[in-house]
Amino acid sequence: MTDPTTTAERPGTAGEHVLEIAGLRAGVAGKEILRGVDLTVRSGEVHAVMGPNGSGKSTLAHVLMGRPGYEITGGSVVLDGVDLLALTPWERAQAGLFLALQYPTEVPGVSLHDLLQTSARAAGRRSDDITAEIAAEAERLALDPRLIDRPLNVDLSGGEKKKNETLQLGVLRPAIAVLDELDSGLDVDALRACARRIEAETQPVADGGTGLGVLAITHYNRLLHELRADAVHVLAGGTIVRSGGPELALELEDSGYAGLVGPELAGEDEGTPVAVRPTIDDPFGGPGAGDPFADPLA
Ligand code: ADP
Ligand code: MG
Repeated sequence: MTDPTTTAERPGTAGEHVLEIAGLRAGVAGKEILRGVDLTVRSGEVHAVMGPNGSGKSTLAHVLMGRPGYEITGGSVVLDGVDLLALTPWERAQAGLFLALQYPTEVPGVSLHDLLQTSARAAGRRSDDITAEIAAEAERLALDPRLIDRPLNVDLSGGEKKKNETLQLGVLRPAIAVLDELDSGLDVDALRACARRIEAETQPVADGGTGLGVLAITHYNRLLHELRADAVHVLAGGTIVRSGGPELALELEDSGYAGLVGPELAGEDEGTPVAVRPTIDDPFGGPGAGDPFADPLA
């Protein structure tokens, strides 16, 4: 096996896209959460970031996509040579970054179809082709097609919401996708459907994929049973403390975080309170929902 911590390319993807996170430091409310994160994700690669609750996994996802309220105190995030930290979230999306939220937002009055049609138009795609594409994606994911025209995520089960996120990924075809706990709130069948869909997308174009690069943030190993990781990184105390191949996830399953990173780092067990859900005002949700911090991007 090749060294999984290097950025070896899968054949056929030719490494068209690369997300480079270097020395990233960020905090919220005067508290530093990310203390120097280094990660490189190339087309076709799946990198898992695993870590105990409260280790900064969602913070990393939010900072990458540009959620307002975080203070970036150092480092850089560059996608194909473009400085993402200087862009708004929608500009980052247009640059090719996608975030599947840990808690997908309910948006009354806007359907999945509306959302994707608008996104496709904004990206300069022919929006009249979108309807058929959405239907095909729904079928691949075994998502009830009636949900396509219902208000986005409203009254949906956890599994249906995550299928919605995955469907958006399939239609929008980003270069790099960040998946924040795709496996939370999913039953085994829905997890398999979503993971297989994403895995297919990571394949080279010649094999029906788009060479998607994935940063899969997860607490548990079960996602990785379905979505094969090329590299596994352990985030603890706001920094990557270990990197390795898929065997690192198995080691974690055996030893737990305490065994791998020590009880101090494994014990910071606050994390995103489950009760805090995203709202339209703060679609990222999480503990900062509705927070009064100035928008650093405004
Ligand atoms: P994870 O996703 O790994 O469980 P998070 O990134 O959600 O962890 O949180 C990391 C740490 O940052 C936690 O201690 C959390 O309580 C804290 N945190 C996150 N957002 C805020 C906020 N808006 N205000 C204060 N603390 C926060
Ligand atoms: Mg989280």
